[in-house]
Amino acid sequence: MSTATAVGLRCRECGTEYADNPINVCEHDFAPLEVVYDYDQVKRDLTRESIAARAFNMWRYRELLPEQQPVSGFNTGGTPLYHARNLGKKLGFPNLYVKFDGVCVPTLSFKDRVVAVSIARAKRFGFDTVGCASTGNLANSVAAQAAQAGLKAVILIPKSLEQAKIANTQIYGAKLIKVDGHYDDVNRLCAEIANDARIGIVNVNLRAYYAEGSKSMGFEVAEQLGWRAPDNVVVCMAGGSLINKLSKAFKEFEKLGLLENEVKTRFWGAQAAGCNPITDAIKRKSDLVKPVKEPNTIARSIAIGNPADGYFAARLCLDSGGGGDDVTDAEIIDGMKLLAETEGLFTETAGGVTMATFVKLAKAGRFDPNETTVLCITGQGLKTMDALLEPGVLPQAPIIKPTLSAFKDLRIS
Ligand SMILES: *Cc1c(COP(=O)(O)O)cnc(C)c1O
Ligand SMILES: [Zn+2]
Repeated sequence: MSTATAVGLRCRECGTEYADNPINVCEHDFAPLEVVYDYDQVKRDLTRESIAARAFNMWRYRELLPEQQPVSGFNTGGTPLYHARNLGKKLGFPNLYVKFDGVCVPTLSFKDRVVAVSIARAKRFGFDTVGCASTGNLANSVAAQAAQAGLKAVILIPKSLEQAKIANTQIYGAKLIKVDGHYDDVNRLCAEIANDARIGIVNVNLRAYYAEGSKSMGFEVAEQLGWRAPDNVVVCMAGGSLINKLSKAFKEFEKLGLLENEVKTRFWGAQAAGCNPITDAIKRKSDLVKPVKEPNTIARSIAIGNPADGYFAARLCLDSGGGGDDVTDAEIIDGMKLLAETEGLFTETAGGVTMATFVKLAKAGRFDPNETTVLCITGQGLKTMDALLEPGVLPQAPIIKPTLSAFKDLRIS
């Protein structure tokens, strides 16, 4: 069952080891399981030279992923890291970068990374059907990549999701089911389904493998910065998995001797004020994450009231010397506009959360502006048009007669 470098699973709490299986919690303490690697073997196979000889996508780091042979998402990852000069100038941050997964393929969010890994695992485990509990982007990616891998897909979502997220799931022929409840209800149901049916639910019984895919975003950032870990990373949090895996990615690169610098990265978590269980804990300097019962925000893709990795995410932000904050829906829209108007990049509402939180923390003087700061922008603006089409968000375009004088009347220049 094992690939060459990923050799099984281990409990994050008690260290009990398990053979590769579609399980995600320890039978002793119900703590999450993590993929174990043979780092001596990884070190032999994965060097700057071997990486550079491969195509620029997530599979160039395949020895640090639980699967080395993709069955979908062959070109996933390899997204741009922009030196955000305009935005940096505006805010006084000369070393500001934007990692833009809004152009990750096939479905334009960082979720393509986690799904590429978990679909390969599902196939290896012999599942003919895969599924997920999703706030939208995961649904899109599981549907697309299941189609690519020749698997059936069953997708469960909370009933109020953006139109684009629904169409972007059903177009691939996936079975989409709307659950009358919030994401946490959907997730609970999926846990029961995973126990009862032969379905590989990527973020439930395949979660340990799934989560590892997020590391590829961190590997890319470090390589794109010239084999350096940044001083600060700002990232929005849903279940709190991605932020932890970015940290793991830098640490693994350091352990393998691939970095120029010592990893001292401070992690800054971002959430919406309408669903802020993790940043609420961080602001209290606590890792006690209190679930939010009724999430209410335009940033639906990160509206998880009871985050599976919330404890670890809060600990990471506090222990790394970073922090976190949350922002209102109006601030989220302003964040989306700011990134678009300064850098020409259109992100979804979740990216607006990252932007607005960065601005808020920057104005509060929480960063050294000369340090290297990376904003992780995880999704594509075309998917959350609903939030922008509300009255008053964008200007009404004038309608004119097709004459030069009508144009001149607008006094544009
Ligand atoms: C899922 C998601 C996240 C966060 O994911 P977690 O790993 O659950 O914290 C961030 N941004 C977008 C756009 C997402 O879809
Ligand atoms: Zn355990």
